[in-house]
Amino acid sequence: MPRNNNPKGRILNEFSYCWPIFSARHPTVPYPSVEVKKLAPHIGGRTSASGQITFNVLLGDISTDSIRHVIFHELCHLIHHNHSREFYNTLDELDPLHQKRNGAYLEKKLQNLENLIETINIQ
Ligand SMILES: [Zn+2]
Repeated sequence: MPRNNNPKGRILNEFSYCWPIFSARHPTVPYPSVEVKKLAPHIGGRTSASGQITFNVLLGDISTDSIRHVIFHELCHLIHHNHSREFYNTLDELDPLHQKRNGAYLEKKLQNLENLIETINIQ
């Protein structure tokens, strides 16, 4: 994809799309602190136990579906600080098509994303 000239704005815009979907299902979770900055290239985002989400500015260059997938992934870490079955059940509810979209292309893309997603900082 062409390099986006406002990657932070694009990521925050997609966060504004994803948050109400998440919050409708999980209304007791407080709005997190969100920042976008340069992280290591293989990291999509990270979520601290205190509720701070940091997204990699490099996400601004990937597809909208993939950005949203990473955002939903990080939002699920506000509830589950791990990659347990419960975590993936929560993620599947929020982003049910993420395994079905675009067949092989997305599979490959998501494999890359799973590789680039994230470190969790438990504090
Ligand atoms: Zn994760």
